[in-house]
Amino acid sequence: MAGRGFQTVQQQALRDFAQAMAAFFDPGNPAGRPSWRKAGRDEGFRITGRRGRQWDVRRVSRKVGQVWVPKAGWVRFRWSRAVPPEVKSYRVRMDRAGRWHVAFAAVPDPVPAPGNGQVVGIDRGVAVSAALSTGELLRCPGLTGRERIRLRRLQRRLARAARGSNRRGQVKCAIARLRARETDRRKDWAEKASTGIARRFDVIRVEDLQIGTMTRSARGTRENPGRNVRAKAGLNRGILRSGWGLLVRRLEDKAPGRVEKVKPHYTSQRCSACGQVDRDSRESQAVFRCTACGFACHADVNAAINIAAGHAVTARGGDGAARPVNREPHLLASLTGRG
Ligand SMILES: [Zn+2]
Repeated sequence: MAGRGFQTVQQQALRDFAQAMAAFFDPGNPAGRPSWRKAGRDEGFRITGRRGRQWDVRRVSRKVGQVWVPKAGWVRFRWSRAVPPEVKSYRVRMDRAGRWHVAFAAVPDPVPAPGNGQVVGIDRGVAVSAALSTGELLRCPGLTGRERIRLRRLQRRLARAARGSNRRGQVKCAIARLRARETDRRKDWAEKASTGIARRFDVIRVEDLQIGTMTRSARGTRENPGRNVRAKAGLNRGILRSGWGLLVRRLEDKAPGRVEKVKPHYTSQRCSACGQVDRDSRESQAVFRCTACGFACHADVNAAINIAAGHAVTARGGDGAARPVNREPHLLASLTGRG
């Protein structure tokens, strides 16, 4: 039975975890950052069941919480976000930077609609993460210039380091820490931006981009190799880094039923003032200047205005694909061992 096999794996992982945690929190073992058996990424496991029986969570002080891990007992973590009362499970995992996390699976509470009848269109950009039809440009923070220089230096060092060497492991870990920092910033940005937008507008329109297929499709298949692979891959990386997908997911969580997906056709070539469609109006990546009426605007904002005026394709069936059912659990607290 497949279920039983899985259970065994989980029990084993748990034993390892208990040992690792014991070492991790042992004051006599200051270097005791546990390493996961498989030097993989995002290893972890999930604890489910009745809260108070199979598992539990409690707050010890303002910054410290404890979670009951079967066989390991109460484990302290840094209480970084509120744990909602309706959580049904949690996941313990170690990220690529070697930090332990405990994530309680919960979908963020919907933000009440302002009731002002306002509609906003949002265009995803590459240079700018998102442009609103109000003219606002939102930038998702990434790594700073200095951090990017450091990252490149580390990557060069990694290329030179001998396979399986200690040094290589250290460099890898340093790279992972930088990447984790970037991810943290992106998540934080998506949370704040989505809450702000859900609070200010009744209807939120976004392009129906299906970012999943888009990011995967650049390379193409052997029979049907992708065209322009290099350029597309660069664009896709940009989209991922801009946190667009995350922003849309969070908007859907926080404004359920108020997010509408619009066909992206011509939104970047259409003049939002006179309606003429002409690819030459897109003067550059950043500038839109209508060849018919002369209207000039930030190109992403022009697109966002078109999106705001667009017709939803997924709101009532339409031809849009249904959104995936499993929503990503919200990372509510992190366990870094520092707290
Ligand atoms: Zn025009």
